Amino acid sequence: MKNLILKLEKEQRLSKEEWTQLIEGRTKELAEFLFERAREVRHAHYGRDVYIRGLIEFTNYCRNDCYYCGIRKSNSCLSRYRLTEEEILSCCRNGYELGFRTFVLQGGEDGWFTRERTTALIRRIHEEFPDCAITLSVGEREREEYQEYFDAGANRFLLRHETADEEHYRYLHPAELSLKHRKECLWNLRHIGYQVGSGIMVGSPGQTAEHLAEDLLFLQELQPHMVGIGPFIPHKDTPFKEEKTGTLELTLFLLGLVRLMLPKVLMPATTALSTIHPDGRKMGILSGANVVMPNLSPQENRKLYSLYDHKRCMGDEAAEGLAMLRAEMEEIGYEIVSARGDALLETEQGGKL
Ligand code: SAM
Repeated sequence: MKNLILKLEKEQRLSKEEWTQLIEGRTKELAEFLFERAREVRHAHYGRDVYIRGLIEFTNYCRNDCYYCGIRKSNSCLSRYRLTEEEILSCCRNGYELGFRTFVLQGGEDGWFTRERTTALIRRIHEEFPDCAITLSVGEREREEYQEYFDAGANRFLLRHETADEEHYRYLHPAELSLKHRKECLWNLRHIGYQVGSGIMVGSPGQTAEHLAEDLLFLQELQPHMVGIGPFIPHKDTPFKEEKTGTLELTLFLLGLVRLMLPKVLMPATTALSTIHPDGRKMGILSGANVVMPNLSPQENRKLYSLYDHKRCMGDEAAEGLAMLRAEMEEIGYEIVSARGDALLETEQGGKL
């Protein structure tokens, strides 16, 4: 098995059978070996820097009904909110003061934020913070709309593919959503010139080692600049409320694999990871992650952006807890840096954003 890890490190690709074999045959010892290799690769490209992204969860309205997600439209138990343009700008100002140079605007697919309103918002942020990166995570849109946001100043986009297996996609989503369209969106974003992030939930209901192998093959093909991998965590008001949480162990293993497959990838130690284990973030960094995304949303809204139960959003998961996070990273020999932290991998437009 160690041979497969060395092969992956050397060639940055494996076949579906090899990926499945590695995942199914993993042991504690193999994982330790993988993490050592992953850290070495990460240090070669990024040293011991950890990039920070200020996460602004600007709306929890969503027109979609994904079975796993707490902000799905059928969840009538949730109080809905959307931040005003002024509130969003105030989050950015606060974040800028704290040292953030990337703002991630994440939300449900909320029709109130029309193309015009979203473009105007991006333009305002870009004008006030020209030295900052603007990352969008607002779901599936038409190519022209993505282009308009890019032209207004957005330069990165996060859209997890969730699962690359058709049947599994059907199991996680209602009929009106399709894997084909999700993938098309990712390719469109890439072609426009965004730094693109994709990814999955680990341990989502029905997921098998073969599905994960397909996910890795898809990421191998897409060559995204960023990959978001976090455990699935059930939400009490969704159809998957009785399902099991994804494991820390498998999530970390996948972070290690992705680091070897995409050596220059930007990869967060996610909030979901630190929600399932108090040291999840540190372990994520030690497995190959190099990004953290503290919460910059107004405190009163954080719990309402409720994708899953018991979400962590205060203390070291919060932008105002940056000192705590910095100390935590120093404990394991890493350093929070204020740099924008752009992808080292070129975009379709040549990389200079
Ligand atoms: N609407 C946008 C989209 O579809 O990409 C962005 C918001 S969406 C809520 C962000 C991510 O949250 C999803 O891509 C999904 O992977 C993750 N997520 C949703 N429900 C989750 C759960 N129960 N456990 C872990 N992650 C979850």
